[in-house]
Amino acid sequence: MTPDVRDRLDRLSGLASGTAQPTGSPVPEAAWGRALQLISQADEVALACHVSPDGDALGSMLAVGFALRSMGKRVVASFGDLDFTVPRLLGFLPGQEMLVPPADYPAEPTLMITFDSPSIARLGVLGESVRRAHELIVVDHHPSNDGFGTLDLIDPAAAATAMLAEQLIYRLGGGLDRDIATCLYAGLVTDTGSFRYSSTTPAAHQMAARLIATGLRTEEIARELWDRSPFAYLKVLAAALERVVLDDGLVWTYVTRVDRAAHGLPYSELEGVIDIVRRTDEAEVAAVLKEDDQGAWQVSIRSKGHIDVAAACTALGGGGHHKAAGFTSHDSVARTIAKFQERLREA
Ligand code: AMP
Ligand code: MN
Ligand code: MN
Repeated sequence: MTPDVRDRLDRLSGLASGTAQPTGSPVPEAAWGRALQLISQADEVALACHVSPDGDALGSMLAVGFALRSMGKRVVASFGDLDFTVPRLLGFLPGQEMLVPPADYPAEPTLMITFDSPSIARLGVLGESVRRAHELIVVDHHPSNDGFGTLDLIDPAAAATAMLAEQLIYRLGGGLDRDIATCLYAGLVTDTGSFRYSSTTPAAHQMAARLIATGLRTEEIARELWDRSPFAYLKVLAAALERVVLDDGLVWTYVTRVDRAAHGLPYSELEGVIDIVRRTDEAEVAAVLKEDDQGAWQVSIRSKGHIDVAAACTALGGGGHHKAAGFTSHDSVARTIAKFQERLREA
């Protein structure tokens, strides 16, 4: 790298000048100001993220939790799954002592902040607390989020909610330490697919540079997130791949409760199945139906880009992004796929 290029990169990331800071967001300054005001007035802040949390949801929430705690705030954090367990692959995230099960969550929070959730429905059993919260700050990047907060900090162009979380922390005057950086990095790499997806902007890489500069162990985080699983996962994956179908540009398969029970695999271990199925060259769209512990089908959909799967999923009661979306179905596998294909043909 020539000194000139290095100098430009350093200036871009702000690392050389020591002014590293997140930049650019369509959230109005007045909204950030109001968020700081609400937070400074609060003694306790109740945080929540979407059900079946991924790295972006849990990571963004815990990162802000650390920042609030260091300001002397009481922090409770949760997500609205009846079966309240942190997915094994997120077990390495620091700050889990802030988590309380939904049963212990404030019924009427004075100030509540939600992360990575496009709707009240995606907050599961915490929905009642959301409705009763006196002030509700919504931190999110889903284009489908129509703003259900009393204050919305939403940037549909952000690669991850973690980018908004970093901004909020920065504006609260908090620095990045290794715990906060670990949580934010988990969100950033989850939602950019390790900087492979089109969401990977210069801003995403600049944020990564700021986070890594705290001394993050990126290799360990990557292994925790993607490069390990219990042996049972391979057996369940084999069952799912055995019955994979390629039909008119759609590749799809399913995983039942019985498949998982046979090998003692929890539902939360299924997140990676779609990433294997979606690699199919002959398919534009991929679907994986995952039967949860209650017997509902949680459907993961991915598109290579020509088809907006968020629209199809929204029409079926779900939502998501252009290339990554989902919905819940209580129909049979065949019926669920038939309904989805019908929507695809309309899209
Ligand atoms: P997943 O396949 O679970 O990784 O989900 C991909 C995206 O689809 C997520 O970012 C969610 O926004 C969205 N999504 C998944 N399931 C649902 C659902 N049941 N309802 C609404 N949105 C969903
Ligand atoms: Mn998410
Ligand atoms: Mn996200």
